Amino acid sequence: MPAGTLFIVATPIGNLGDLTPRALEVLRSVAAICAEDTRRSGQLLAHFGISTPLVALHEHNEDALAQRVVDRLLAGESLALVSDAGTPLVSDPGFRLVRAARAAGVRVSPLPGACAAIAALSVAGLPSDRFAFEGFLPAKASARREQLQRLAGETRTLVFYESSHRIAESLADMRAAFGDDRPAVLARELTKLFETVLDGTLADLQAKVDADENQRKGEFVVMVQGAGDDREARLSEGRRVYTLLNQHLPPSTAAKLAAEITGAPRKELYGAR
Ligand code: SAM
Repeated sequence: MPAGTLFIVATPIGNLGDLTPRALEVLRSVAAICAEDTRRSGQLLAHFGISTPLVALHEHNEDALAQRVVDRLLAGESLALVSDAGTPLVSDPGFRLVRAARAAGVRVSPLPGACAAIAALSVAGLPSDRFAFEGFLPAKASARREQLQRLAGETRTLVFYESSHRIAESLADMRAAFGDDRPAVLARELTKLFETVLDGTLADLQAKVDADENQRKGEFVVMVQGAGDDREARLSEGRRVYTLLNQHLPPSTAAKLAAEITGAPRKELYGAR
């Protein structure tokens, strides 16, 4: 008996029209659907007239259930995994099941679709050729601040998930760690009725969120532009120091010392004016 396939199925993050035709077909045809919250996924399936049985698989039972699910796959059944919204495994359960299935040699196949982080990046207008997805920050204030401090020098665009009850605090902590002037974008309630995308500096965004209680409601993706590349800053400081030293020292010695003092590349300082 050939093993079945485990399909990892993305579901909408708000607008039900974002469930793909292929996702509908697979959710209809599999033997069962593993779902983070069977009640919530049940409503989604009912909306589309799908009556495939649901199995609860959430962070508290995933370890225990993964082997049972893998046994069903090995026995030839194909199954699907969905989370409450968006792409499973992205700040959602499923990692341990996928790892167990792959370890057992079972085919795991993705059905791509909505993901809040990617949807948010696609409309942010921040550099997105490289980005760092940070998911949720720690709930505890001290751990959150430490984590943000660690990220202060990151040059890639940072992407965070945040909930309504912590958005104001997190923005304040980001201002403290990254500075008031760091460009950022706040994407709220994407694909839903009150979809809002705000941009500005971190200080601007916090002022907007503080001023309007509606801007603290719903689900958020916070994106922060990466730290600037400080090579240019080092080079201009290096040139300044070189010019001063060169008034008293030969160019090669002045360039060597200016490079040591500022971290600028020596070759680019030599002969600077
Ligand atoms: N697996 C999901 C995905 O692919 O995006 C993410 C699940 S995570 C538990 C839920 C978080 O995603 C929310 O707290 C929020 O930060 C973000 N999120 C989900 N839906 C969103 C939406 N419609 N607009 C903005 N952020 C959203």
